[in-house]
Amino acid sequence: MDIVLSLKDTEWLATQYPGLKIDMTNKCIVGDIFLNRSYNRKTLTNVFSIKIMLEILPNMVLPKVYETSDKLQNIATKLDLSSIEDIHVNSDTSLCLAIYGREKECFSNKFTIREFFENCLEPYLFWVNYYEKFGKAPWKEYAHGGLGFLEMYAENRLTFREIQQKMSLKEISKYLYHYDYVKDKCLCGKNKDMKKCHNDIYNGLKKFKGNWNLARVS
Ligand SMILES: [Zn+2]
Repeated sequence: MDIVLSLKDTEWLATQYPGLKIDMTNKCIVGDIFLNRSYNRKTLTNVFSIKIMLEILPNMVLPKVYETSDKLQNIATKLDLSSIEDIHVNSDTSLCLAIYGREKECFSNKFTIREFFENCLEPYLFWVNYYEKFGKAPWKEYAHGGLGFLEMYAENRLTFREIQQKMSLKEISKYLYHYDYVKDKCLCGKNKDMKKCHNDIYNGLKKFKGNWNLARVS
């Protein structure tokens, strides 16, 4: 589905982001974003070169966005991260802008370019900027996919029923096996005890196992 920009959208973009251009030939918005944003009384400013595709692919909520300089790669290198995925860049080099399954929360109703910038793209860029500057995330983030659901479950953001709907039995069984039998390696792949490495995932699995056993008995 193509993203259609209204005259109002176009004017808003030109005012808010004068460094960006709409390229109708290649169906994208491309150029520089001058970020100036605050969170918890910290203001960060920076420039990011980006390309936003004006198309939402089937089964997706958000358009693909790419960073077009080497800035993100340089940040990953500078912070000595094992992978650029640690700053939420997907394997196809597009940015991972929102938690899987929660992308719709960026919008009050349906997709709008303004809410996309304000609730999705800018928070992502702020996050990366903050991470680069302070070496840690500015706010709590969740792991990708099922592991993230387990973290939310540990925090009571998902119910036992919801987690069973979101994850296949195969996936949850795999994690439970790991929880029971693989003690010296975390599910994230690091050679560390899961309890110390990803404590919320550990707690989510512990809680799931408890409720699972209860559900079987009753
Ligand atoms: Zn871990």
